[in-house]
Amino acid sequence: MVYFADGGILVSMAKLEIITLGDPRLRKKCKPIKRFDKRLQQLAEDMVETMRATSGVGLAAPQVGINERLIVVEIPTEGFEDDPQAGKLFVVVNPEVIRARGEKVADDEGCLSIPGYIGEVERYPTATIKGFDVHGRPLRIKAFDYLARIFQHEIDHLDGVLFIDHISEPQKLRRLVQDPETGEWLEEPVVAALA
Ligand SMILES: [Zn+2]
Repeated sequence: MVYFADGGILVSMAKLEIITLGDPRLRKKCKPIKRFDKRLQQLAEDMVETMRATSGVGLAAPQVGINERLIVVEIPTEGFEDDPQAGKLFVVVNPEVIRARGEKVADDEGCLSIPGYIGEVERYPTATIKGFDVHGRPLRIKAFDYLARIFQHEIDHLDGVLFIDHISEPQKLRRLVQDPETGEWLEEPVVAALA
């Protein structure tokens, strides 16, 4: 099983449809949420279900075509036994990174909205996130390493920013191709993939 930033590559039946690169809704700045009502709670629930069904570790509302500041994040326990942050679900309304520290670290990310691609992105290793739960109660989360990376990736989505925007050198973006015989996932540079 492969997990990247918000992007699982195993797509199964999801509750909500995930829109992909090229859809202008992914590029809009999202509006702050003002009403903490039943509709919001239902949307959050559906997003959690969709994230899990697609083996994602995070999902932002614009990825399901909703122009609002809501994200869901969860690192699964399976495969991340050493990460104390795994197995915890975060649903954050109007999230903001209020503090990001440390020297940026480069690592691979993918995105449910850019299926089949991964690329190396530099992110802060620790981040403090502030926001609200679906009932309007204030939240403050201290995240590090992978979780901090996911939060930075998801919050970017709310401003129409995608992980590929952070990739300056084309060779850092790669395409994932499944070997038809072994079923193994292989990487190839995008330049070769286009040739
Ligand atoms: Zn994403």
